[in-house]
Amino acid sequence: MKVAIVGAGLTGSLLACYLARRGLTVTLYERRPDPRVGTADRGRSINLAISERGLDALRRIGLDATVMADALPMKGRMIHPVAGALDFHQYSVSGDRAINSISRGALNNALLTAAAAAKGVSVEFEHRLCELDSAAGRMVFQTPSGKVSATADVILGADGAGSAVREQLLAEGIVAEDVDFLDYGYKELSIPAVDGEFALDPGALHIWPRGTSMMIALPNPDRSFTCTLFWPAGSFDALTTADAVTTYFSEHYLDVVPLAPDLVDDYLHNPVGVLGTVHTLPWQAHGRTGLIGDAAHAIVPFYGQGANCAFEDVVELDRCLDETGGSWARALPLFEARRRENTEAIADMALNNFIEMRDKVASPLFRLTKQVEHT
Ligand code: FAD
Repeated sequence: MKVAIVGAGLTGSLLACYLARRGLTVTLYERRPDPRVGTADRGRSINLAISERGLDALRRIGLDATVMADALPMKGRMIHPVAGALDFHQYSVSGDRAINSISRGALNNALLTAAAAAKGVSVEFEHRLCELDSAAGRMVFQTPSGKVSATADVILGADGAGSAVREQLLAEGIVAEDVDFLDYGYKELSIPAVDGEFALDPGALHIWPRGTSMMIALPNPDRSFTCTLFWPAGSFDALTTADAVTTYFSEHYLDVVPLAPDLVDDYLHNPVGVLGTVHTLPWQAHGRTGLIGDAAHAIVPFYGQGANCAFEDVVELDRCLDETGGSWARALPLFEARRRENTEAIADMALNNFIEMRDKVASPLFRLTKQVEHT
């Protein structure tokens, strides 16, 4: 049984590890060069919050210790008001529960290395899927030396929110999709270490709630922080000069200005990313071609659950294969039936959490309500 996974990101690499355990022959096709020998794209989300949902999937294949070795536990939110004292809201009453800040690149590399080392797995970099016949199991990839064809018994699209597999299934008239773009974009900034130490408390996820917009910051193992601005899409264009950037941040994010020496350069040169929710129906075709992770159900990042949710997908698909004796024709629809309700719920919760993070957390009433909920 030959399985092709399109996309060697977080989902595809983890999925390859799981399928290899089943004794399947797996080829991972990735459009980019090997990330383990290159540098990260400027401005692409540098770190991620991985919670128990994601850790569970890693634990099942013995990768949790490797990934957690460099993780930074964040036990609560640190609220930065425009003026006044910082305010820490711990995530659990006991204070011992945390989400973990993890480098996206290191996580992807760890998963990719584990997948490539697994028996039966091969990885083809610089292979961008450009054509698909989902019924026949035929694929065409664009490579640096031209187009190449490949076949597989099963094809799984783990190629992210802008999935080419989904696009091909759409063109074949097999799936319907609805992409709700948020009228907000994101841009990353950095706060370096100061004299080798973190410039902010590394035990918290930092939030600068500003009503209709916000900034967050997560710690990195090199003692820097990566900040992400979530602003109404068009508003990034309003600041076009160094003076304008400095003046704006001095007014709205004053405590960050002395901590971010590259603020102006980061702001003026880092790209603005788009955010949206992908709804797809169905997630599979002919019992042999399927979608998984962001390719099936990308969500906005405000709950920090997109990758966690994609990792849960992998565990559930593996479980469905167990329960159906390895029948893909039965496992793919079963996987969709079990996961759809959960992924739709987290998509809604992620949108709601944006309102909570950018606005409600700044209110004393919110704090009081949360305390009452915990008692
Ligand atoms: P991707 O990570 O997008 O990987 C897809 C892979 O497929 C890539 O390697 C890509 O190069 C490859 N590919 C694409 N097209 C093709 C093609 N045609 N042929 C071959 N290969 C192809 N989630 C969390 O759990 N916690 C967080 O804190 C968090 N923070 C986030 C912050 C931001 C700003 C954003 C945007 C997202 C965040 N997420 C977070 C969501 C998380 O990044 C995604 O859910 C996760 O990356 C999905 O993994 P994936 O492998 O399905 O897709």
